[in-house]
Amino acid sequence: MKISNEIVIHKAHELGFDLVGFSRSEILSEESSHLQMWLDNGFNASMEYMKRNFEKRQDVKQILPSAKSVISLALNYYTPNQHSTDSNTGKISRYAWGRDYHLVIWDKLSLLEEYLSSLDENFESKSYVDTGPVMDKAWAVRSGIGWLGKNSNVINKEIGSWFFIANIITNCEFNYSEPIADLCGSCTACLDACPTNAIVQPYIVDANRCISFLTIENKGEISNEFKGKFDNWIFGCDVCQDVCPWNKKFSEPTMLQEFQPKGTNLVLDEVINMNEEEFKAKLETSPIKRAKLSGLKRNAAFLFGESLPQE
Ligand code: SF4
Ligand code: SF4
Repeated sequence: MKISNEIVIHKAHELGFDLVGFSRSEILSEESSHLQMWLDNGFNASMEYMKRNFEKRQDVKQILPSAKSVISLALNYYTPNQHSTDSNTGKISRYAWGRDYHLVIWDKLSLLEEYLSSLDENFESKSYVDTGPVMDKAWAVRSGIGWLGKNSNVINKEIGSWFFIANIITNCEFNYSEPIADLCGSCTACLDACPTNAIVQPYIVDANRCISFLTIENKGEISNEFKGKFDNWIFGCDVCQDVCPWNKKFSEPTMLQEFQPKGTNLVLDEVINMNEEEFKAKLETSPIKRAKLSGLKRNAAFLFGESLPQE
């Protein structure tokens, strides 16, 4: 079955997606070897789930047997606000300033899939936003959304890298996009700027050293090795994207109201004294809730120079 690229692109733009690309559902051989190497080196830290469902990550036909294509979509979340420099506050990564992107994107994906189903009753699909055993960046690169930068983010030469990625696996065939050449060139700005030397070599981030992992997914203590290096990041870290020349030059504000900042930082004292009810009331629709209150308290304490055990 076939639906034209133009129909999908038109509807995706109407729903607010900024970029759309199409790739054939082939086995991700090279990308899987890269993932295996990353896992073998222990760069996944405690993210054991990254080892699971390897076959599905490698081959989307293990998820949707009728798969012929992957539609990759990008949604810009950039707003021109700046990070706080107040040492009494903890900085939040830009992607978490507004409404939880899962909630925003799932709604849009449902509408897009419903629309495509209405065009052909045989249309089948499975969609993913950053959860599930899908190599979202690999598909975005194959679909021509951008190239994989040395900071391990997908970069588009027209809008930079401040965007979320979603993928729809489908039994529909399309005219396929050409991948974009790697335009990092001789630049090493992200490697040079990373406060914890987490980009251990171009294109490879060691989660054990990455502030983003250490403040969000990490359930353990934060090593004293990183004392004084966190530059007040309490949730995530934007340094390797902030310094990227493609972002400095080409970032454009998002049109989406949902991603307008509800807050760009958290007051450290307030976090330390926050209870579960307050946490829920303040962060119910924010991606920050992923870190849980205990994680945020640990991060705040770490920024204060202390170290609290996790609950
Ligand atoms: S997110 Fe921060 S800590 Fe992680 S690689 Fe980028 S600059 Fe380094
Ligand atoms: S900072 Fe430079 S090397 Fe790093 S991702 Fe951007 S262009 Fe590539």
